[in-house]
Amino acid sequence: MTQPVAITINAGSSSLKFGMFSTTGEIAELAVGLVENIGAAPRLRVSFGAGGDRVTQDLSGYQAADHQGALQTALALLRDRIPDAQVRAVGHRIVHGGAAHAAPVQITAPMLDTLRALSPFAPLHQPHNIAGVEAAMALFPDALQVACFDTAFHRTHPKVNDMFALPRAYYDKGVRRYGFHGLSYDYISGELARIAPLLHAGRVVVAHLGNGASMCGMLGGRSVASTMGFTALDGLPMGTRTGQIDPGVTFYLVEQEGKTLDEVRDLYYKRSGLLGLSGLSNDMRTLEAADTPEAAEAIDYFVFRIRRELGALAAALGGLDAVVFCGGIGENSRLIRERVCAGMDWIGIELDRARNADNDMVISTPLSRVRVMVIPTNEELVIARAAHAFLSAGDGQAAAE
Ligand code: ADP
Repeated sequence: MTQPVAITINAGSSSLKFGMFSTTGEIAELAVGLVENIGAAPRLRVSFGAGGDRVTQDLSGYQAADHQGALQTALALLRDRIPDAQVRAVGHRIVHGGAAHAAPVQITAPMLDTLRALSPFAPLHQPHNIAGVEAAMALFPDALQVACFDTAFHRTHPKVNDMFALPRAYYDKGVRRYGFHGLSYDYISGELARIAPLLHAGRVVVAHLGNGASMCGMLGGRSVASTMGFTALDGLPMGTRTGQIDPGVTFYLVEQEGKTLDEVRDLYYKRSGLLGLSGLSNDMRTLEAADTPEAAEAIDYFVFRIRRELGALAAALGGLDAVVFCGGIGENSRLIRERVCAGMDWIGIELDRARNADNDMVISTPLSRVRVMVIPTNEELVIARAAHAFLSAGDGQAAAE
């Protein structure tokens, strides 16, 4: 007996997140894991089902010198544990789907060319995503490959939020406000529809606060506005990224400081944000535990920008019914949630400090006009569901047999 499964792949520059899901009937998680430090000192972590076994392995550079090696190593471990798995579909997180894609697509050879053509829009991410697709195609030539785009969820936002005030020709060339973290927002929107349908129908701001961070304003579960724009650099400050910055700073750095564009890119993406401001770390846990004034200021700036964007998004939505926190910081840091919500009674937020300290799902008081919630996000499940939907629709039948 074989067990049909879908694999999910989320390939970053030096990491590969993966999952294995049963596709018999309702989709069910069998395992999720991560290979980090690919090419340097790779490490593999896998957990098998909710509350199941956890495995950690140090891998030699030889085993995970690139994405294909990392994927092969991870799959070998999964095959040992789940020997009857038969991979019918592979779902991929793809950062950029361009203006045309508002939903997942099957990756055919022409579609792979389309994804490659979008690489200039996300040069730091898209090539790694494509490497993941190529690795999966080589390993599972008969499986259905599905692309799930981080930009897709935001394609519903109105044109006024899709534009920059540049001459019109640039919009036509694709210089638009795309927005990212769409798989996470899609998951949260679905969870809200399930657990709080009235709020889902209303005006909700979701704060995805992880190493990458953004916020999204939703009306009726659909994106109306988000803090990320043309690239995943805009909006909130992040672990190592600046967030919103006056473009004039770039001219200054190039013209007065003699920096090259590559140096500025490196500065904005890898050396700024919480790391740049604190001079200590990009990791919120480290900053919360530190007692330097710089670490405190980095946290102050992070919180200030979240509060500012919360007000702006509430204005874009015409009011506010709920705020949802997710991502590593949003789901775990009671300090950040407390500081974001402090003194926000003017907008209708009243935090219940005890519930917040307990990481409850609802952390506002019963009388708070705005419901404040913590919902752990699950991007892997969104990808697995999309792969499952393609399989169920029969599109993959011929390929998988
Ligand atoms: P990524 O965007 O890479 O997926 P995550 O969503 O895993 O990142 O978030 C990572 C961030 O979450 C780090 O800054 C980490 O310090 C922070 N974090 C995780 N747990 C806690 C915690 N208990 N308290 C504060 N911050 C936390």
